Amino acid sequence: MNCIRCTAELDRHEGVNTGDKPKDGDFTVCGYCSELMVFDDGELIAPTEADLDELPAGILLNLQKAQEIAGEFREKCNKSR
Ligand SMILES: [Zn+2]
Repeated sequence: MNCIRCTAELDRHEGVNTGDKPKDGDFTVCGYCSELMVFDDGELIAPTEADLDELPAGILLNLQKAQEIAGEFREKCNKSR
């Protein structure tokens, strides 16, 4: 499974809160480029406007936080090179 934006291999999927394997409709954030994606039938796809609209506000905030953290982590990694 690869990121739809940066094509990084994303092979370790664990829920932030649950540790469960993701199921269809679950959201994920790429740890390399912070792209927001949705699991769909064993693949990652871009979320539609409708997908985002259906998200509870708290979840959307958590995803945006995850995107920020991924970005900060990436910056730190780039600086240490
Ligand atoms: Zn990516």
